[in-house]
Amino acid sequence: MLDCIFCKIINKEIPSSIVYEDEKVIAFKDINPQAPIHLLIVPKKHIPSLLEIEEKDSYLLTEIIKIIKELAKANNIDDKGFRVVVNTGDEGGQTVHHLHFHLLGGRFMTWPPG
Ligand code: 5GP
Ligand code: ZN
Repeated sequence: MLDCIFCKIINKEIPSSIVYEDEKVIAFKDINPQAPIHLLIVPKKHIPSLLEIEEKDSYLLTEIIKIIKELAKANNIDDKGFRVVVNTGDEGGQTVHHLHFHLLGGRFMTWPPG
């Protein structure tokens, strides 16, 4: 998508700190981290939100969970614990309309979230 900031990151039109990349998925550091570890795991396919995930995209979810586990281990937060967030829609706090999974860790998380 032309106007999508994450598509631009995927296409290397704008820089980011990439921590993982394969054919279908990219992960990079959030520009405005909310925890010591704050990564975004993003399918390269432009899917606007969780609501638009179709049956044929389900392989992506398996792949993304695998990558989240690997990144949690690589960042030593697998034992301590971490949080995975998918903000969806306005009231869900979604600001970038390209599906992404936040991986947050390195501090105690509170509940309920703000
Ligand atoms: P959302 O609010 O949609 O759940 O999450 C969007 C996230 O993308 C935010 O945490 C925000 O800090 C991050 N973000 C927005 N623009 C950029 C950017 O250009 N580069 C990076 N690395 N992160 C971004
Ligand atoms: Zn996009």
